Amino acid sequence: MDLGIRGKRALVCASSKGLGLGCAEALAAAGVNLVMNARGSDALEAEAARLRSEHGVEVQTVACDVTTAEGQEQVIDAAQDVDILVTNAGGPPPGMWLDWERDDFIKALDANMLTPIAFMKALLPGMMDKGWGRVVNITSQSVRAPIAVLGLSNAARTGLTGYVAGTARQVAPHGVTINNLLPGIHATDRADSLDSGVAAQQGITMDEARANRAATIPARRYGSRLEFGATCAFLCSQHAGFIVGQNILLDGGATNVTM
Ligand code: NAP
Repeated sequence: MDLGIRGKRALVCASSKGLGLGCAEALAAAGVNLVMNARGSDALEAEAARLRSEHGVEVQTVACDVTTAEGQEQVIDAAQDVDILVTNAGGPPPGMWLDWERDDFIKALDANMLTPIAFMKALLPGMMDKGWGRVVNITSQSVRAPIAVLGLSNAARTGLTGYVAGTARQVAPHGVTINNLLPGIHATDRADSLDSGVAAQQGITMDEARANRAATIPARRYGSRLEFGATCAFLCSQHAGFIVGQNILLDGGATNVTM
């Protein structure tokens, strides 16, 4: 299917690996020029070079931490005229409700709620002026059903979801859509780090930890960054203009809800 977005320009935050990279790859395959970002520059430059050569698109890179004010300024400078925004950043660490202090919450809110909000605030006006735009926020299945050890993530991402629910309706009259993608478990470094915690805690191997987790998913496997990216690219396509303010679960059926 032609997604109808060849020649558009997208900012994909936190995109040198994992789900962000999956989104960048799928957009590049659709002919979209990119601004890619991550804190480390090695993987970022390597992936940017690969996408340029595989898809013939322009890729600008900005190596910085998107959760800081300085990082946001650098990325927004490079991305002023984008048509598409994909927000993403690392997730907060797991833990126990009793151990989290105010500073832990502020960090999580900054990274997973206020950072995507800052990008939307900066870049939505340009999209609205053009009468076309797409925003996809990478959140988590924990928005639909809590993951107890990820209380910081549950809290911050639910706040973002509330903000998007209202804002998506305010920008839709200008041809701009905002939607959230809710990943369940995907085979990325983040999943490895969660699984290694479980393996250490239960005294089992990584393979056993992965197999145990996969067994709890109706699809009996982890998702891949490529299928995640393909869904993101569809939400950014010309065909998705009537999808507004939705929270789309990509979790192999893991979240046991009817709707
Ligand atoms: P990942 O494999 O660890 O990749 C994270 C990517 O983001 C890397 O490119 C990393 O590069 C970059 N990054 C992290 N923090 C950043 C920051 N502050 N500023 C700029 N770039 C940053 O993670 P993932 O699995 O793709 O997860 C992406 C998001 O989805 C996370 O918020 C995660 O919690 C959430 N999620 C993931 C899963 C899953 O199963 N994978 C499930 C639910 C939710 P640098 O380290 O070089 O910065």
